[in-house]
Amino acid sequence: MIVGGGFAGFACAKKLARLFEVRERDIEIVLIDKQDYMLYTPLLPDVAGGAIDPRFVTVSLADALPSVRLIVGRVDAVDPEARTVTVARENHEPLELGWDKLVLTPGSVTRLFDVPGLHEHARGLKTVAEALYLREQLLHQLESAEHEADPVVRRARRTVVVVGASYAGTELVAQLRALADAYADRRGIERDEIRFLLLDTAKQVMPEVGERLGEKALEVLRGRGIDIRLETSLRSVADDHVVLTDGARVGTHTVAWVTGVTGAPLLDDLGFDLERGRLVVDEYLRAPGHPDILAGGDAAAVPDLVRGDGAITPPTAQHASRQGKTLARNVAADFGIGRAAPYRHRDMGLVVDLGPGFAVANPLGKHLSGLPAKAVTRAYHTYALPRGVNRWAVTLGYLTTAFVPRPLTRLGLVSAREAGFADSEGIQEPAHASD
Ligand SMILES: Cc1cc2nc3c(=O)[nH]c(=O)nc-3n(C[C@H](O)[C@H](O)[C@H](O)COP(=O)(O)OP(=O)(O)OC[C@H]3O[C@@H](n4cnc5c(N)ncnc54)[C@H](O)[C@@H]3O)c2cc1C
Repeated sequence: MIVGGGFAGFACAKKLARLFEVRERDIEIVLIDKQDYMLYTPLLPDVAGGAIDPRFVTVSLADALPSVRLIVGRVDAVDPEARTVTVARENHEPLELGWDKLVLTPGSVTRLFDVPGLHEHARGLKTVAEALYLREQLLHQLESAEHEADPVVRRARRTVVVVGASYAGTELVAQLRALADAYADRRGIERDEIRFLLLDTAKQVMPEVGERLGEKALEVLRGRGIDIRLETSLRSVADDHVVLTDGARVGTHTVAWVTGVTGAPLLDDLGFDLERGRLVVDEYLRAPGHPDILAGGDAAAVPDLVRGDGAITPPTAQHASRQGKTLARNVAADFGIGRAAPYRHRDMGLVVDLGPGFAVANPLGKHLSGLPAKAVTRAYHTYALPRGVNRWAVTLGYLTTAFVPRPLTRLGLVSAREAGFADSEGIQEPAHASD
């Protein structure tokens, strides 16, 4: 039984299905996920920027894994002693299911800090709902600004604040900037009337790509008019403004919070050891003391055997999908197919798409920026998407935006509540002292 059909769970189910089929073993694989698709998160910034349609980045689990039994529901509890999970399903009583081997790959959620107003007024970028909401919120605010007589309110509606300058937040700000530029060009307003702030407590943008490429990205983004403020974050968030940690007050109605992740809430109630919110596992991806429970991806603190020194692997899709394969191999070994192996993977580098005509990438230690990096980035995503139909659709999306400006239509599909941290990611607001 696999809980979570994201990068790790999907790769695990796929490889296990193949191993069992080849060996003609009649072992049932059950995959449980809250949603019926695997989400290709690296393209969520493109969805938020309106460059890619949200359906293109969702891979149907039923289509991609035909021999796997798919259950769409939320696992609310795991009982390691009784060997059961409890699954909440829409319009039905909870379902209790037994397992012989349990693979936990429920991923992560946005890490929130105790910033007043953050829960209510900011939105993350981990789900389709959040990406769609950010796009439509920006367009909605730009439209409202057109009718606004008060220059202070108009400026606030034309201001976007993105917090988190690692690769996801930086890609997001670049894509939202491109969407705003397209809007400005078509509505005849100056591009620099729409203001973007990118904040981070770090001293550098995208530390993951190294200092040189980080500096390059900083220069290009600043050249596009993005106000990047390092060693700065949010002190508070309100409906119409934020207060920065340096005391500055910035009027805005659009705040994206992309500062990092922590393990899925399901892990908190297991009673197992956690490290940085992730389930502690050994190098074979097994939970200590529970050899029939394995975990990988963002949900697990997997020892990084390449870096050593007690390091754990970073929460990336690259590690998650490779750990998914190791999970499958080690589960299969328990059924007498092949031999178990420890997880060991050398990081292959990152590709970061920074909007029109620019990207940075460090594949296999090579430092690329500009158009060569853009080509590598796009080729990588079209290769890494796990289904042909998605690759086709994304390629068409790329080609379309190369020749035609991105669409500015607003469909109003996602409400502010649906895109909130509670509804879209399942993060409950912490109870306040007075509650
Ligand atoms: C905007 C963005 C951009 C990114 N870009 C990159 C990139 O360019 N390169 C890179 O390497 N990484 C990137 N990442 C990181 C990458 O997305 C994660 O590391 C990866 O998704 C982790 O895979 P996973 O399988 O552990 O979790 P996920 O892919 O998040 O999958 C977890 C699955 O579990 C399901 N689930 C959770 N809880 C439950 C439950 N209780 N019951 C049932 N199902 C449940 C979820 O619905 C989900 O389908 C990016 C992340 C984001 C948010």
